[in-house]
Amino acid sequence: MKITKVESFILHIPLNPPITDAINAPTHWGLPGVRIFTDEGITGYGFTGTCANGDEMIADTIDRYYAPVLLGKDPFMVKEIWDELRFGKMHWIGRAGITHMALAAVDIALWDIMSKAANKPLWQYLGGHKSKKIKAYNTNGGWLNWPKERLLKDITSFVEQGFTGVKMKVGKPDSREDYDRVKAVRKAIGDDITLMIDVNQMWNINTAMTWGKKLEEFDLYWLEEPLNPDDILGHKKLADALNVPIALGEHVYSKYAFRDYIHQGAVEYVQVDVTRVGGITEWLQVAGLAASYDLPIVPHVGEMGQIHQHLVASTQNAIMLEYIPWIRDIFIEPATVKEGCYVLPQMPGASTEIIPGCFEKFRVK
Ligand SMILES: [Mg+2]
Repeated sequence: MKITKVESFILHIPLNPPITDAINAPTHWGLPGVRIFTDEGITGYGFTGTCANGDEMIADTIDRYYAPVLLGKDPFMVKEIWDELRFGKMHWIGRAGITHMALAAVDIALWDIMSKAANKPLWQYLGGHKSKKIKAYNTNGGWLNWPKERLLKDITSFVEQGFTGVKMKVGKPDSREDYDRVKAVRKAIGDDITLMIDVNQMWNINTAMTWGKKLEEFDLYWLEEPLNPDDILGHKKLADALNVPIALGEHVYSKYAFRDYIHQGAVEYVQVDVTRVGGITEWLQVAGLAASYDLPIVPHVGEMGQIHQHLVASTQNAIMLEYIPWIRDIFIEPATVKEGCYVLPQMPGASTEIIPGCFEKFRVK
């Protein structure tokens, strides 16, 4: 099989209503990505996820620097291609962020092609581990800009729908308000529901020590991204001092950065995101690294679970998956949760193929 054409795209999907966490206030979810065409008629779709900022730089990297390398290559040589792109012309200014997210999109499209050619859903192509269900936890009601009444209404409605795990944002300017909101949510959902909180990097080490300890009384499953993601030492101090485990990974861009976090005991739930590390190829390496430390993987869903459902289903130490249904309606086989669990995809590929009408409707490039 040979690659015959490489075409970048950008889709912007509106969020109604707009949401916020402690540092982001997106109005659209951005999908800068790529379609890779082959001489056997199979087309691979890959993309990364953004708050719709900087997408043109990711698409430009694909068109200008990655497409010329890809043309004529065999998609089944994905690891060789990965090395060639990673250590190619963008290495000097890349290795994280824009160029690495472009690499993720390309890598995902190649795995989509391979699993389609094998006529298998990606999770089976990778070697299935979970034949039945993956527990889903719902993030899509715990936003920081939700007034308390809406927060409680949304989160209790998830429990009524069958979700057994929920996550809410914290990081208000006055941490006493966070305490009050977490207390109210725990009281509303009862003791049997898994509850996580996400700071989105807003705290410093002192705030995290003080309020992380105070919030422990609400039996939190994890404390997510309490500090700046470059601060491994700070997270190590928190992991040692707090009873609530530390979760992070959505801003950690390589296996090397994960190695340092994991080896130093600074992360306890590994939230590696296939759209932020260099795609499926590097995601699998991080999952293997975490497995050697007996650490659980619970991916952050920069692609809203479409690809991660396959990765969790084929990875022994992946225990649960986030659910945010913002973009599911654009896909030919959308990620689906029933009674609190993901229903595993059955179509060949990585569940990345987009309905043609939606592709045109939301396309801005
Ligand atoms: Mg988060």
